Amino acid sequence: MMRDALKKMDVDLKDVVNYTLDIHGANHNMNSYIGQQIKINWSGSVICICGKEMGSFYRNSAYCYQCYWKSPLASQSIFKPELCTAHLGIEERDLEWEKEFQITPHYVYLANSSGIKVGITRGTQGVIRWMDQGASQAILLAEVPNRRFSGDIEVSLKRFVADVTNWRKMLSGTPEPVDLVKMKEELLEHVPENLRKYILNDNTVTEINYPVTRYPNKIKSIKLERTPIIEGVLLGIKGQYLLFNEDRVFNVRSHEGFVVEFSVQQVSQGTLF
Ligand SMILES: [Zn+2]
Repeated sequence: MMRDALKKMDVDLKDVVNYTLDIHGANHNMNSYIGQQIKINWSGSVICICGKEMGSFYRNSAYCYQCYWKSPLASQSIFKPELCTAHLGIEERDLEWEKEFQITPHYVYLANSSGIKVGITRGTQGVIRWMDQGASQAILLAEVPNRRFSGDIEVSLKRFVADVTNWRKMLSGTPEPVDLVKMKEELLEHVPENLRKYILNDNTVTEINYPVTRYPNKIKSIKLERTPIIEGVLLGIKGQYLLFNEDRVFNVRSHEGFVVEFSVQQVSQGTLF
C-alpha cells in the first residue's frame, strides 16, 4: 500500500554521497541521473504512516489527524528531546514505544552544514543524519544512554551554537571549513557537570562531499502541493534536496508520504543548460 509513496533517499558515504531512491519497487541510483531529465508527478493524495490515504496531511505535518494527536511518533518530545521522560518511567503517549525509542544510546554531535550546529542522533544513525542534513564536516561530542540526556546537552550548547540547519545557506555552496576539534574543546566546558562523564575523547572528523554539478544562484523551493508535476534537469543532490535547473530545489524528505510517479529521461547535451 505504501509502495508508491515518496520516502527519503537512502544515503551511503562514499567519495561523494551515494543516493538511492526506492520507489515502485525499484532502487534508483540518483547520482547516475545527474544531467538527466527527471519527472515527479503527484497523484493528489498522501499516505500516513498508519496507512490512511487522504488529500493532504493534517496541519502540514506528515500525519493524519488521528496520528498527529495520538501517535508517539508525532509527540512533542520528538521535536524537543529535552522533554523525554521514558527513562523516568513517565508516559507521554505510549510508554512501551517511548522506552524502546528513547532508552538507547544517543549521540550529541557538531556539524558544519551552513555554519556550525549542534545536534543529536540515535545510535547508528549518526553519519546518515549528517548526510541527510547536508553537512560537510561532523564530529561526535558525547555518547549518552538515553535521548533525554542528549537533549539536555543540546539545550546547554544551543546558547552558543545553532541547533538548526539554514537550508538556503546549505544549498548555496560548500561552507567554509571549521576547526571542529577546537570548537568541541571550547564547547565542552558548557556541558552540564552531571553529564560530562559521557563526553567522547574520539576527535575523528568525518568529511562529506555531495554530487553537485552546479549550485543554485537564487534558490526557489518547489513543493508538490503547488506544483503537482515537477520536471527538470537534475544538477545535483545535497542533504535530502534534489537540485534542478532554473535554481529550483525539491526537498524529498518533506514530501514523504506523497503518492507520486517517478520517471527519468535522457537529454541530449545540447539542451542541457
Ligand atoms: Zn495516521
